[in-house]
Amino acid sequence: MKCKKCGARASVNMRQHRMALCKEHFVEWIPEQTERFIKKYNMFARDEKILVAVSGGKDSLSLWDILVRLGYQADGLYLGLGIDGGVQYSSESHRLTDEFAKRHNLKLHVVDIEGEYGYSIPVLSDISHRGKGKPCSVCGLTKRHEMNRIARDLGYDVLATGHNLDDEAAVLFGNTLQWSSDYLLRQGPVLPSKDGLARKVKPLCRFYEREMTAYAIARGIEYIYDECPYAEGATQIFYKETLNQLENSRPGAKLTFYLRFLEARQSGNLFIEKDREAAYNIHPCERCGQPTSAPELCSFCRMLEKAKTVSE
Ligand SMILES: [Zn+2]
Ligand SMILES: [Zn+2]
Repeated sequence: MKCKKCGARASVNMRQHRMALCKEHFVEWIPEQTERFIKKYNMFARDEKILVAVSGGKDSLSLWDILVRLGYQADGLYLGLGIDGGVQYSSESHRLTDEFAKRHNLKLHVVDIEGEYGYSIPVLSDISHRGKGKPCSVCGLTKRHEMNRIARDLGYDVLATGHNLDDEAAVLFGNTLQWSSDYLLRQGPVLPSKDGLARKVKPLCRFYEREMTAYAIARGIEYIYDECPYAEGATQIFYKETLNQLENSRPGAKLTFYLRFLEARQSGNLFIEKDREAAYNIHPCERCGQPTSAPELCSFCRMLEKAKTVSE
């Protein structure tokens, strides 16, 4: 297998693009493509301030690396979730994120959830009604709330996350299996800013997971290999495996599944009631001021409230 650009021995073969590249050209190709996606989906402009949510994993650190290489003004946000246990997941991911920021002289904001609210994610999920046995839902809720809060408080124009194609295709697959039209309506590379929510973008949404692994390794990025010890639901992993099987026999199937969905959605061809979203009554939460459709407090503040009652 030879590099399409220089003929040297290829190190990454992308069957879905019928293209192989050497390490050097692959490391150039990824940012070029990212730039193309940023423009294609109108994610952000050169003069906008970007906040990258970094977890210490390969995707978010690579995203930060790519945006900085492309010359964007991108700062990092690390959320300390207090998930430690056997593998020291949080301390290790924090250390790797810190090192990356220092090595490249980048600005990193760190918010420790326990320091901020008095509970780590595992404790919060144990004592609040939401999380009995499923800290991932408490974790997801907390992350969304905090990322939006920090972006708003620090005046960032846009929030960027490192979701790759495998993540997006698995979510799409799950939502399609259940025809969750509300979720389908909201899934995409860009979620516009609305009712006090920051614009959210996923610049890596068209890259396969293995491409991101290859990029992180080729760039010498040190990242945390361990999955969160609570691991996202087994269902998500099962969807990813199913899609990988499909991809193995039909290279490009995963990409086509996602891209055709985006095209159908954009052309209004999905049979979804478009006015459904307008039916929600969005207003600011009485405590934190972030938008919510719940009567008084947003779900995050209600969860904290509950946690306080239980722990007193
Ligand atoms: Zn080459
Ligand atoms: Zn709130």
